[in-house]
Amino acid sequence: ESFTDMCLHQSIMKDIAIHGYTTPTPIQAQAMPVALSGRDMLGCAETGSGKTAAFSIPMIQHCLAQPPVCRGDGPLALVLAPTRELAQQIEKEIKAFSRSLESFKTAIVVGGTNIYEQVMRSLPEKHQTLLFSATMPVEIEALAQDYLTKPVQVRV
Ligand code: AMP
Repeated sequence: ESFTDMCLHQSIMKDIAIHGYTTPTPIQAQAMPVALSGRDMLGCAETGSGKTAAFSIPMIQHCLAQPPVCRGDGPLALVLAPTRELAQQIEKEIKAFSRSLESFKTAIVVGGTNIYEQVMRSLPEKHQTLLFSATMPVEIEALAQDYLTKPVQVRV
């Protein structure tokens, strides 16, 4: 599946091109259509495979699809990352794919409490969760059990 086949917002297509991506990587080709469909997903692909864009681009697309009344109503999307360096890299990529969207804002929040307390508890009841990991140890499988609903599994 090409980026063109994914029916992405025009400004996202433009920013993907500016960023220099022409063809989706295998994880992007498999995961992005699932993420765009709204299903929860458990994605397994190694470091450097293009996971960041695989969730960031559908995330931006879903934000743009929200009615204007929801857009000013607090954050529309939340990305959890295990280190602040990774959080910074992810923010950089999200900024790249939303550079043509003037009103699109991002912020990094750093803290030290556990993920349930710090974020998951504050999510609205209706939400979509995409969990990506390079490996699937029992700890990650346990997180998936707790936080995903009937996830589509994508492995490359
Ligand atoms: P990631 O796995 O998200 O850390 O991405 C690994 C590297 O691949 C990063 O340097 C990205 O900029 C690059 N990358 C990701 N997707 C693509 C793509 N579709 N085309 C070219 N480079 C990409």
